[in-house]
Amino acid sequence: MPLQPQKLGEALHEELTQHSTLCRREAGAFQKAVQSGDDVVVACTQEKRLFAELGEQTQGATSVIKFVNIHETGGWSKDASSAMPKIAALLAAAHLPDPEPVATVTYKSSGRLLIVGPLDQAEQVAEMVADALDVTIFAQGVSDSAQAGFPAQERKYPVISGSGLALKGWLGAFEAKWEKSNPIDLDLCTRCNACLAVCPEGAIDLSYQVDSNKCTSHRDCVAVCKAAGAIDFDREAQAATEAFDLVLDLGRQPLIAAACAAPRLLCPECIGGPGFARFAGHRAQAARPGR
Ligand code: SF4
Ligand code: SF4
Repeated sequence: MPLQPQKLGEALHEELTQHSTLCRREAGAFQKAVQSGDDVVVACTQEKRLFAELGEQTQGATSVIKFVNIHETGGWSKDASSAMPKIAALLAAAHLPDPEPVATVTYKSSGRLLIVGPLDQAEQVAEMVADALDVTIFAQGVSDSAQAGFPAQERKYPVISGSGLALKGWLGAFEAKWEKSNPIDLDLCTRCNACLAVCPEGAIDLSYQVDSNKCTSHRDCVAVCKAAGAIDFDREAQAATEAFDLVLDLGRQPLIAAACAAPRLLCPECIGGPGFARFAGHRAQAARPGR
């Protein structure tokens, strides 16, 4: 590692001597330093134990010894000769007092994840995390870029929908409240898409929500869904509540406005909007280390 003691010393306002065998032949220089009473920073962590023991065994040693790894965190690079500013910063930071311990909170999670947003995007994100989390999707229509034929003709995840979704709580203890007002019961719906095909008004989208502004109430969809019995325009709206440990909010409007200040909810703004694209990008990068 090409060190430039003079440059580093200028940055740190002290005179530095470079040692390369401080833990062996030049141990005397270390012992002399720890007898000075000033804080001593050793820029090597590999021999931390040895230096600590040597300090204990040195008569009259009163200095506080601090260690910093400037090799792996600064100079271990083909650009090491340009890393002096960073190494100087690492050495300066080693002199700082340890930070005050921060308050911690504990929480329990059984991995219940609610993904809120356009169904096609929510299902893609669910694919990425379903191996580790218990996913439920709150469908908010489909995205503008939803591919024809989406969603797949299977129900891989519980999908809920409705109006007035409200969210409160925090990591490990979210409560979602909404009103089940959609004539289509997503638990009964088999995703056969017959209602979409038969509706002349285009009032049903691929998230299986009936748009009451377009619906002209002639009930062709009810007739075509007779076998599944999933469509009932007379069903009373029902209030629903469910608990989740985590929420991934891909919706256009964040459900909790303060989410960015208190990161208990991942919202599109937090992940750089459009949230889904960035989130998917990060996951893809993570899956391809080194690229
Ligand atoms: S016809 Fe019924 S089962 Fe088929 S997609 Fe429509 S609501 Fe679902
Ligand atoms: S009642 Fe008619 S217009 Fe309304 S969703 Fe069903 S098929 Fe479409």
